[in-house]
Amino acid sequence: MAYSMKVKKHTCIVCGRTFPEGQGIVLRRANIELTFHSKSCLTKFFRLFIENLDEGSFKKAAKETIKSFEEQRKARMKTKVI
Ligand SMILES: [Zn+2]
Repeated sequence: MAYSMKVKKHTCIVCGRTFPEGQGIVLRRANIELTFHSKSCLTKFFRLFIENLDEGSFKKAAKETIKSFEEQRKARMKTKVI
């Protein structure tokens, strides 16, 4: 066939389901690709992931992440007041 649709497929690393590019959740960092077909698979992965992190890295990453969401929340509250 001269004309074929080539859509990149991903495989969910949690349940093994395949899904096309543009669907699901794909996270890339440090040459590692994390692919999840749904939020529930991402949640499953995340729970185990934080257990596997060493305590120091976890504390640092958790604090930083909480802080950035706190800042986002504050920013949203400010815009609501106006
Ligand atoms: Zn999945």
